[in-house]
Amino acid sequence: MTKNHIYLDYNATAPLHPAVLKVMTDIIAQPHNASAVHGFGREGRRLVENARESVAALVGTTPNQVIFNSGATEGNNTVLQFFAQNPQDRILVSAIEHPSVLNALDNAEHIPVTQDGVVDLNGLEDLLTQKPRATLVSVMLVNNETGIVQPVAEIAALAHRHGALFHCDAVQAAGRIPVNIHDIGIDFLTLSAHKMGGPQGVGALVLGLCGITPTLLQGGRQEKKARAGTENVSGIAGFGEAARQAMNNLASYQRTLAPLHQHLEKELTALNQIHIHGQNSARVPNTTLFSIENKTSDSLLIAFDLNGIAVSNGAACSSGTVQASHVLEAMGCESSIVAGTIRISTGWNTKPEDIDRFLETLKKIL
Ligand code: PMP
Repeated sequence: MTKNHIYLDYNATAPLHPAVLKVMTDIIAQPHNASAVHGFGREGRRLVENARESVAALVGTTPNQVIFNSGATEGNNTVLQFFAQNPQDRILVSAIEHPSVLNALDNAEHIPVTQDGVVDLNGLEDLLTQKPRATLVSVMLVNNETGIVQPVAEIAALAHRHGALFHCDAVQAAGRIPVNIHDIGIDFLTLSAHKMGGPQGVGALVLGLCGITPTLLQGGRQEKKARAGTENVSGIAGFGEAARQAMNNLASYQRTLAPLHQHLEKELTALNQIHIHGQNSARVPNTTLFSIENKTSDSLLIAFDLNGIAVSNGAACSSGTVQASHVLEAMGCESSIVAGTIRISTGWNTKPEDIDRFLETLKKIL
């Protein structure tokens, strides 16, 4: 990739923040096993505990509630599979969750969403009143495709009223909007470092106050026996720095990105044949998902790529394939509209010129 390339796919992964790179570069070559008693080990422990404080602060809790792991796929699987151990227990997940929630279990029931891309609270209540009672509800805070913010405080309250616990995948919310695990009423919250300028392959499961600690891996006694495996010290330290940066820069992040997306969406609306998804719903300031009539996502993605611009079709993409979006399908969008969908997601290094060049290129392609 050259300096001329433009990166507008932060919801897939964000470029490493320079402050994170510095922290990690200083320690990655060191033999820090945070469980070892010698000086290298003790330094590793200090780095991990320092990061734990920053990650806890990012979501409004105390460090002892944070369990480091390999990312949100692990965090989501840990919670869902823990609650699925008793086949009698019903687990409710929204129809627009990330595949790491949707595919974690075979028998989870899906909570519907409205045409505006928001979890349908009446639909959730219907499911919660059925017997046997549900033990866990899982709804993301912000959808990765549309950027729509879900009514998670209401969802947590509903779940609790019906005797269920509440898991929230907050991967696309942390660092973009304020997140407080206790104000929302979350029992289990998952985070991933690489969506906020941290390294890939590091994340955290943050516990609320229900007193249950879901575990997935068996082995050593790391993370107070909650997550076996030698801690990824440089990755965790990088996550801590990313969390610090995200927290300190949240206001300027919102001030910078919100007008960029307002400008982008105004220009898109002025073009014919474009439909912006979730326009009537509360969204994070960094995400715009839109569809162009009579186009296909893969031809658009290739055309942008040839022009040095990295965008996505929004749907969680694995092995480089472009798939139809289960999120837009759950919102009831017509398949003829969603065939040509593009997601623009921005972040700490996005500049107004990037959006201008995207718009110029789009007009050229159209
Ligand atoms: N949840 C959401 C909402 C995501 O966007 C992602 C990443 N695409 C994940 C979970 C998985 O995160 P990780 O890459 O850390 O496994």
